[in-house]
Amino acid sequence: MNNTQTIIETLRERQFRITPQREMIIDALLSGGPHLTAEAVYEQVQTRTSAVNIATIYRTLDMLVEQGIATRTDLGGQVVYAPAGHGPHIHLVCRHCSYVIDADAGVLAALAEQLQRDYGFTADLRHISLFGVCAGCKD
Ligand SMILES: [Zn+2]
Ligand SMILES: [Zn+2]
Repeated sequence: MNNTQTIIETLRERQFRITPQREMIIDALLSGGPHLTAEAVYEQVQTRTSAVNIATIYRTLDMLVEQGIATRTDLGGQVVYAPAGHGPHIHLVCRHCSYVIDADAGVLAALAEQLQRDYGFTADLRHISLFGVCAGCKD
């Protein structure tokens, strides 16, 4: 799912009403780079129409996350959205300097497997953040 039309078709099949605003939000999500705050999406959509408010942006982004079309991750005080195709990777966020390292999500495969086995829980680990201290801040 990597273009607006494919996503819209998918949402239609799932009985969602597609408004021009929703379409513009999806466009913004796909074209605006991998890590967008809701405010950044809002600003982008505002360049095309003023008939949108921030609440609609939040609602639509949440719906896209629920539908598996977008992911949401906390980058340390900043919640960002990405298209589902982004990643999988882990953001290692340093608590001290806010440095963000993109780490390979492969290390989480064993964790996901174990959570599935022990708890029957399907963890969504495609785009998550882990908080800690980076090598440069350690000493
Ligand atoms: Zn990312
Ligand atoms: Zn650091």
